[in-house]
Amino acid sequence: MPRRKNRKTNVKRSYGQTFGTKEDEEERSGDIYDHALTEADQFPENMLKYWRQRRSLFTLFDGSSITGELPLLDRESWYSITPEPIAARIAQRCRCGIVLDAFCGVGGNAIQFALTCERVIAIDIDPIKLEMAKHNARVYGVEQYITFLQGDWREFSKAWIRDRDTNALAADKQSDDLNWQKCQQLNFDVVFLSPPWGGVSYRTLQSETPQKFVPLAPATPTIDVEQDENFYPLSALAPSGGKDLFETASKLTPNVCMFVPRTVDLQELASLVDKNGSQSKISVEEQWLRGRCKALSCYFGELAEWKEEEEVDQE
Ligand code: ADP
Repeated sequence: MPRRKNRKTNVKRSYGQTFGTKEDEEERSGDIYDHALTEADQFPENMLKYWRQRRSLFTLFDGSSITGELPLLDRESWYSITPEPIAARIAQRCRCGIVLDAFCGVGGNAIQFALTCERVIAIDIDPIKLEMAKHNARVYGVEQYITFLQGDWREFSKAWIRDRDTNALAADKQSDDLNWQKCQQLNFDVVFLSPPWGGVSYRTLQSETPQKFVPLAPATPTIDVEQDENFYPLSALAPSGGKDLFETASKLTPNVCMFVPRTVDLQELASLVDKNGSQSKISVEEQWLRGRCKALSCYFGELAEWKEEEEVDQE
């Protein structure tokens, strides 16, 4: 799998050179500002904690981009975005040539991939979130490394697999977007899946034969298990369930990373891979932030064999 060094970025400089004033930006992005929650008083009481934690979602909420422009998130993204330190960790591990982020949302992961990978292909079905992702990539000065595609991951992957199987580029009925068609011809080094978990109430979902979630021991002695928490069933991952998502992604590349709730049953996760096959390894990382385990990132293929590298030269 082609690896690359950390991208050299100077957020302030590249932001200043490439993008104009806040007024220009507002004119360009139009209604994304109507969908973004940008002030504390726009948040309902039960979501205020996300606003307070905004600097751990995007560190540039500190206003340090050259015009002081801030990242934009819509209501859903405030609770579902991958916090920046976790996204950065995943991006280190997925360092490669071309990474496909199949559910990019407002770009939390895609921005970090842009710092470690040659090129990022970022798909989302929601045009507003995708516009916010572009805005956020501009705020971080990495927009030029990301190709944004608006559409359905299922259509993208289905067409990609069909083209590979027929060994010819079939006319793509799903999109007349030129970028979409070009990306259909790429070979991906890594596919990253951070699919919808089912909104804020995902913790109440249960497997058909509910079993209590038991934290791993002794690695996670202090994991904060809520009373009577059940395993999260992989089938609840939208849009097609964890098994289908994984199997489809594996046709694009064996190097897959899935970002899933921390209460996923590791046995169920293990059942995704063929125990006797060549790609039988899985590596699972707990992603902790402020003393809480937020999620699991599950690595397959060569990503499962990854070893901590020496600090990469930033020069
Ligand atoms: P949750 O809050 O349940 O974790 P989200 O609603 O944030 O999940 O969903 C993650 C992202 O996936 C969203 O940005 C959403 O627009 C996007 N998405 C959902 N279905 C698809 C799909 N079929 N193809 C591409 N993107 C999708």
